[in-house]
Amino acid sequence: MKRKNLLALLLALAMVFALAACGSSSNTATSSDTTSTDAAGTDAADTDATDAADAAADAESEELPAQVQAIVDRGILRVGVKSDVPGFGLQDVLTNEYSGLEIDLAYKIAETLGIDDVEFTAVTAATRGQLLDAGDIDMVAATFTITEERRSSWNFTTPYYTDAVSLLVKLDSGISDYADLTDKVVGVSTGSTSRDALIAAAAEAGVTLDSSANFSEFATYPEIKTALDAGRVDAFCVDGSILSGYLDDTVEILDSVRFSPQEYGIATKLDNTDWADYLDNLIVTWLADGTLDQMIADNGAAASFAG
Ligand code: GLU
Repeated sequence: MKRKNLLALLLALAMVFALAACGSSSNTATSSDTTSTDAAGTDAADTDATDAADAAADAESEELPAQVQAIVDRGILRVGVKSDVPGFGLQDVLTNEYSGLEIDLAYKIAETLGIDDVEFTAVTAATRGQLLDAGDIDMVAATFTITEERRSSWNFTTPYYTDAVSLLVKLDSGISDYADLTDKVVGVSTGSTSRDALIAAAAEAGVTLDSSANFSEFATYPEIKTALDAGRVDAFCVDGSILSGYLDDTVEILDSVRFSPQEYGIATKLDNTDWADYLDNLIVTWLADGTLDQMIADNGAAASFAG
């Protein structure tokens, strides 16, 4: 090849490379635009919106049982929840917003039904069943332990969480075991499983507790904590998840005293069996596909019953 031709060829090659370089830089720009669209969440939001719309369409196209359809037609899901249990149902005193595993569950159920509006009602161990019976709420998701006795009053779904009962005591209480409770008074709430659970666990350990002398009953948990602070009770007994809401630097939860697995189920009014079945199917599905594990992790729910 002549030198002139070689030069021309080199020049041509240089131009091809220059063009290719330009092309690739414009490709980079294009692909980084796409990435920033993703990062901005537009695509994800679109997908979420599509999913929600699909769920709503499914909810509409499927023949829903009349009890479920009535809730969809109302457009509001009314849910009884705890307002003072961190990780489960907690109401922010400033914003009034609720958060926790049971709140997320309620929103997920509403989304599945294509319902936009969830109305939360704060319940206690003593009020949750009455509110269901009166028809004021559609369901309760409020650390409600499934027991055989309660099954005769309400429907419960498959458990979505299992907690343990424990004791909250003052740091200098000297209480570390069931035997230390025989001359003490334990605060429990009305309508809870706590008293029977503690008596049974102590009995298993060979300690007899008297159902009246060793216990004092209160309507609400804040009242039990006040009584503990004032020395009117020596221990506060209920599920660990609930006790964690009352921790401060003067008290502790006795890790050595964890007993009586408490399986939490969503409760519905006894004659609402179709609604109960619908909810049970959702819980079973979400237990199997990891949705519930994720919700529990997202809410940093208190350690579940592990013995
Ligand atoms: N989980 C227990 C119960 O259902 C404790 C009480 C409560 O949930 O407030 O009795």
